[in-house]
Amino acid sequence: MLVFITILDLIATVHAFFGYSNGLQNSWSKHSQHCAGQYQSPVHIESHTAMPLAIPALEIVGFHNLIPRPISMTNNGHSVVIKPSGNGYAKIFGALLEDIYEVEHIHFHWGKKNNRGSEHVINGIRFAMEMHIVTRNQNYSTFNEALMYDDGLAVLAFFFNVREEDNPSLKPITHDMSLVQPDGSVAYLTHTFTLASLLPQNMDYFYTYRGSLTTPPCSEVVTWIVFPDPMPVSISQIAKFRHLSDGNGHLSDNYRHIQHRGHRKIFVRRFPTVLNTYKNIYRSINSPQFWGLDKHQNNTV
Ligand SMILES: [Zn+2]
Repeated sequence: MLVFITILDLIATVHAFFGYSNGLQNSWSKHSQHCAGQYQSPVHIESHTAMPLAIPALEIVGFHNLIPRPISMTNNGHSVVIKPSGNGYAKIFGALLEDIYEVEHIHFHWGKKNNRGSEHVINGIRFAMEMHIVTRNQNYSTFNEALMYDDGLAVLAFFFNVREEDNPSLKPITHDMSLVQPDGSVAYLTHTFTLASLLPQNMDYFYTYRGSLTTPPCSEVVTWIVFPDPMPVSISQIAKFRHLSDGNGHLSDNYRHIQHRGHRKIFVRRFPTVLNTYKNIYRSINSPQFWGLDKHQNNTV
């Protein structure tokens, strides 16, 4: 019984402190120690300091099938989360991932103004919106179990710029967004869609590095794969995101401050040219040193 109450208290506490204003972000680590860790996300990605590497392509499986319904959409007060009913319908592998990862959910970060909103910053540019497709290493059976292992999660990050025209790919999501306007509400999408429809045409070029969840508990278990070429979102579409409520007002600027990169390496995918170099480096992919991590991570939640 004592344990039960403690867990409930913890959930209540986490929800209470987890806000995005400057003061609130600085206090995340008081409740989730990982948020003060060395390998946090997001980071500023600068192409001139990224290490070019002949990385295998990111392979996607099941992304061209319609997502099985029901597909829930939740306003959790911090983001809007799209989650299909089942697991295992879509997977990724390749890039610098050693295992197969199953798609868990999709969520977004966006700004109140068009010149901010993304979490990662690329060459000094912060985009209006960032989409995260969160995937779980299929060696682990649940999201919470995956949070305990360095290779637990991989997150695909995509950017959006504001344009005049609607992006038809976002319509299945924005169409029903008013249904989850209140903080804590859940609805089911009227229309299904394919994950592939949400992706940019060119997936050849990406950055990858080791980091963390960008929300508490900030677990350092994420292999980030960041696609730098932005996709469009219209003014009226992003307005629907900005109209959601966080319980106190409009939910926007739900992006975390840039975190210190430290000695971490950020790799950028290049096509194979100097194969020997690539193979030599690739052989050591499992070592923390490969990623520029100084020590073994400790992911005790
Ligand atoms: Zn996110």
